[in-house]
Amino acid sequence: MMSSSFDLSHLEELTSNAEQTQDDLLKEILTLNANTEYLRQFLHGSSDKTLFKKNVPVVSYEDVKSYIERVANGEPSDVISGGPITRFIKSTGTSGGKQKIFPINDEYIEQLGYVLNLRSLVISKYFNEIGVEQGKTMEFHFIRPESTTPSGLPLSLRDEVVRVGAAFAYSLVRAIDFLGNYWKELCGNIRSGHVSEWITNHNCRSSVSAILGGPNPILADVIEQECSHKSWEGIIARLWPKAKRIECIITGQMGQYIPILDFYSNKLPLGSTIYGSSESLFGINVDPLSKPQDVSYTFVPNLSYFEFLPVDHDGDMASIVDLVNVKLGCYYEPVVTNYFGLNRYLIGDILQVVGFYNSTPQFRFIRRKNVVLSVDIEATTEEDILKALAHVNLLLESSDVMLIGFTCYADISTFPGHYVFYWELKARGVNDVVEVDKKVFVKCCSVLEESFNVLYRRFRGQRGQDGSIGALEIRVVQQGTFDSLMEYFISQGGSTTQYKTPICINSSEALAVLENRVLDRFYSERSPSLET
Ligand code: AMP
Repeated sequence: MMSSSFDLSHLEELTSNAEQTQDDLLKEILTLNANTEYLRQFLHGSSDKTLFKKNVPVVSYEDVKSYIERVANGEPSDVISGGPITRFIKSTGTSGGKQKIFPINDEYIEQLGYVLNLRSLVISKYFNEIGVEQGKTMEFHFIRPESTTPSGLPLSLRDEVVRVGAAFAYSLVRAIDFLGNYWKELCGNIRSGHVSEWITNHNCRSSVSAILGGPNPILADVIEQECSHKSWEGIIARLWPKAKRIECIITGQMGQYIPILDFYSNKLPLGSTIYGSSESLFGINVDPLSKPQDVSYTFVPNLSYFEFLPVDHDGDMASIVDLVNVKLGCYYEPVVTNYFGLNRYLIGDILQVVGFYNSTPQFRFIRRKNVVLSVDIEATTEEDILKALAHVNLLLESSDVMLIGFTCYADISTFPGHYVFYWELKARGVNDVVEVDKKVFVKCCSVLEESFNVLYRRFRGQRGQDGSIGALEIRVVQQGTFDSLMEYFISQGGSTTQYKTPICINSSEALAVLENRVLDRFYSERSPSLET
């Protein structure tokens, strides 16, 4: 619960005193943890900040995994943390490759609540400014793969919903697709006031029944009418007519879902409000009305201690800077130290400083660090791939199909190696079959290649000459393939809520999930030009 005195002055205060807050936080962490087995080897019991900066190495998960796992396996918390560790959370394991677990405690959950409340205040403020009346938020949460029911699916309160959201854009698209498959049954449930027997989760059944409150044939008719349109264009706006905004993360790799969310919502404004990971929450978007390409996240200085490794550091760890010392326009990878055992831990995201809110920097999310495709010495980054896909999406806008899932890998099993994109498509009309027009897809291959950097285009070969990179290939996969891919990752221990389809795949098991469902293959038929 937010107390009545909790207002946005807290945000002003936090962001104005970032340096002091961060210094105090590090002091507190070091005092608590200096005698942990992990830190003792570098600090010998000292909690001095200068020594911390000098002696404690910058690490990745593999470096600390064994310490974390020992605590997870029952050894005392003080292997890594002076305070109690009360739970572990799992990362999806899909953004960085392998699944990871991270220790946290209840105090962190409380702190997190404080920051999330600040975020809600920021959103409410902007809603008031644009004159939106009070209302409800329709949020979709995935609980487990087996219970694909996005909780709160009933639309009874549809006239009160002013925001529709989910954690990531991908989850929202899935929730709408799920509705696409189950709306007839849903309407049947609403009409009879009875929840289908296969929904066995007791809490889910009773909350849905309570909201339904008995048979509601009028509502069932309204929803049925909207869902039975041939096209699902604008379905979100039609089902929740007062919705003014879609809220979910749409930056980074989630950017690929913007066209489909625009289609489903009749281009309602998209708000991306938070940037965080299993390791820590990092920042909130203090300008919730900003356009997707302008979204930045203001780091919150009271949760973890943040340092920043410049992207062009040439191995010089001394170039690391504190939160308040980052430079406008520069690119960095965040390094996190928290209360529960992460010390100078590299997050693996690349961010750019795009402004300051009071004394606290604001960052644009650029990409994951390690996502690259490479066949020769070219490196095609996540950002390059997403930009290329945005070009392709423009081309697909005038066709009957939409791209609803993609991933890729560099196939170097033959010479020359080439890039392979797996695409799952959906027809714009709900019941229409996906018609794949060869000409359009060959053109898509070329558009992707034309969008890549100059090294790619040079190695691809020029004027009919073969290069060291072969023709780009699109493999169209069956509908539902990307759900199967998700299920595969979840079966490996990934989390459903945080799941993000990997931009590039490098596990042979995951590739097999895709390969078994390939329907069609298309290749680029000409080399890309060298001009940009
Ligand atoms: P996980 O620990 O599995 O929840 O994944 C965290 C990762 O998700 C981050 O390191 C980012 O790569 C990505 N992520 C989280 N929030 C955002 C955001 N707002 N924009 C772009 N990527 C994000």
